[in-house]
Amino acid sequence: MSPLKPHLLDDLDAQLQRWAAEANAPAYRVGQVHKWLFQKRAGGFDEMSDLPKALRADLAERFRLWSTDVVKHTTAEDGTEKLLLQLADGGQVECVLLRDTSRRTICISTQVGCGMGCVFCASGLEGVERNLTAGEIVEQMLRLQRLLSPDERLSHIVVMGMGEPLANLDHLLAALQHAHREDGLGISARRITISTVGLPPAIDRLARQDQNYRLAISLHAPNDELRNQLVPVNKNIGIDAIMSAADRYFEVSGRRLTFEYVLLADINDQPEHARQLARLLAGREALLNVIPYNPVAGLPYGTPTPERRQAFRAILEQGGIRVKFRHRKGNRIDAACGQLRRSQRTDLIQVAP
Ligand code: SAH
Repeated sequence: MSPLKPHLLDDLDAQLQRWAAEANAPAYRVGQVHKWLFQKRAGGFDEMSDLPKALRADLAERFRLWSTDVVKHTTAEDGTEKLLLQLADGGQVECVLLRDTSRRTICISTQVGCGMGCVFCASGLEGVERNLTAGEIVEQMLRLQRLLSPDERLSHIVVMGMGEPLANLDHLLAALQHAHREDGLGISARRITISTVGLPPAIDRLARQDQNYRLAISLHAPNDELRNQLVPVNKNIGIDAIMSAADRYFEVSGRRLTFEYVLLADINDQPEHARQLARLLAGREALLNVIPYNPVAGLPYGTPTPERRQAFRAILEQGGIRVKFRHRKGNRIDAACGQLRRSQRTDLIQVAP
């Protein structure tokens, strides 16, 4: 088998510049290719019609534009679309397009699998296989953008797909450049949210970037004892260290923090948990996003009753916490992290007795 050509979307700027130099093409050709990829939503080099045919052929000769195959494309009634992508080495990741009034949000993955081990999450059940390359992350953005009709525009990005984004920060930051740059997707950093389990050194690194992305921290428990059970990496970190890193991020970025909390019946949904959570978040410029649990086949977790949810909410609101209860979107198509990949692999699904 002949070796694969380099993936153009990896290290895009450097590869295009080298190409232009070697092909004796003027510098503006690089800008044209960018425009075709990010603004004109090209599906292949052959579509880049303002490039001379010889240059298009030369690009195709040297590079792969796409490195993944779409294994599955599902659409829900509410307009949510989800892609299951197969990578060149056989790994699979998911990414999602969400439509909400005029918002067009994409949710992208950063790793194959996940090493954080959150007990309720489908992505990490078999650990992490590898980090995605920057090109594989950019490719998700472009493939999802190509699902839009010509009058729709991407407005938001959430890095809430498979994997722990801060465990693959180099590649993520390289990819996100193309999200916010003028010659990229042109989505401003305040419309890009990175969701993390809470890795303090990486949060500090993120704070040192020029771009102030929004940060969402997956808390899921108001005390270390419970969080150690639900989010095992917490044993080596602890909520205090995460809150301090979050505060430092807020100071530098000025961006209001988001904390995420998946409400699990009889586990983290008791009135005492709500009271502890209110105390933890009090005085912080923060939004608490309460996420409905999307049941994962084979896992023993469920969603609390509406009464229990309401009681939880009331305590937080009385405590003066800004809280939003998120609705589930696209759940009929398994549009929650790791679930579509998992449902494809029937060998992994153990139906509860
Ligand atoms: N590793 C990152 C991104 C994970 S996905 C993080 O931990 O934030 C984004 C959010 O979905 C996280 O808060 C994650 O805990 C949550 N999540 C995982 N599985 C879920 C499920 N089955 N139902 C609802 N939310 C889930």
